Amino acid sequence: MGKRIVIALGGNALGNTLPEQMIAVKETARAIADLIEDGNDVVIAHGNGPQVGMLQKAMAELTRSDPEKYIPCPLSVCVAMSQGYIGYDLQNALREELLDRGIQKGVSTVLTQVEVDPKDPAFAHPTKPIGAFMTKEEADKLVAERGYEVMEDAGRGYRRVVASPLPQSIVEIESIRDMVEAGLVVVACGGGGIPVFRTEGHHLKGAAAVIDKDFASCVLAEQLNADALIILTAVEKVAIRFGQPDQEWLSELTPAQAEQYIAEGHFAPGSMLPKVQAAVRFAKSAPGRTALITLLDKARDGIAGKTGTAIHQ
Ligand code: ADP
Ligand code: MG
Repeated sequence: MGKRIVIALGGNALGNTLPEQMIAVKETARAIADLIEDGNDVVIAHGNGPQVGMLQKAMAELTRSDPEKYIPCPLSVCVAMSQGYIGYDLQNALREELLDRGIQKGVSTVLTQVEVDPKDPAFAHPTKPIGAFMTKEEADKLVAERGYEVMEDAGRGYRRVVASPLPQSIVEIESIRDMVEAGLVVVACGGGGIPVFRTEGHHLKGAAAVIDKDFASCVLAEQLNADALIILTAVEKVAIRFGQPDQEWLSELTPAQAEQYIAEGHFAPGSMLPKVQAAVRFAKSAPGRTALITLLDKARDGIAGKTGTAIHQ
């Protein structure tokens, strides 16, 4: 029996530049096509760090070149652009890989807005540095003119910092669900989603924030009633005492065991911690749900129980 699987792609699935991404998506498409060939319904979410950084930089250059004509591009718009660009490459690579295997299946990207809470404490403490390094003068100007928050980043200059609030709900969830039920392969929640919050009436306003893609993927998997959440990254398994001589790779964990290791500080904030937190939350959300953390090219073996770190009740 096929499963409904939400895949969260990490940075290594997409590369850092345009040519790197063109090459990386071919291997990514093979890993995803393996799961589709095995009869699973697949929904793909992904990160966007390098891509949104590139777009932000390009848009900032445009403003610098002609400030009268081009206002600074809102971060939410840059995230939307990155979803379009990455979705385009993924759609293309997957289409080709599936047709090469004789599989007739549509692949579509949904520009996805994800609601955040304007009262999320993250807004009072922006922690995520984004975009180019600036001089103190450039930074002061942006603070005065745009109300941006900036931070000195490890002696390398000033950078804008934005909040990383938790995802609350996925605005386009019904469209995504309908497309999955119609048998399409869907790319959604790219870069954690375009962060928006509710204002008056039905208006949604873009937020100057970035949502963690691992947390957004967890909400997507929950709201789609998925059987599995697979977080594909640069390590085959999660470790305790990571990088130390007595490091130990983990194969299977209950949510309680994983929470214990989180409390003991085994997972690095900003990299492995959000993955394990997202995996625990998904595994706890209903019985029978499994979260798996493994390497991109181990997805098929992982779902067959042969490798990776699985978390389930
Ligand atoms: P992604 O782009 O897939 O989100 P990240 O770099 O954010 O990747 O997170 C994955 C990285 O987390 C791994 O490559 C590894 O170096 C690091 N990491 C930190 N702590 C651990 C741990 N306890 N076990 C395994 N990997 C860890
Ligand atoms: Mg990451």
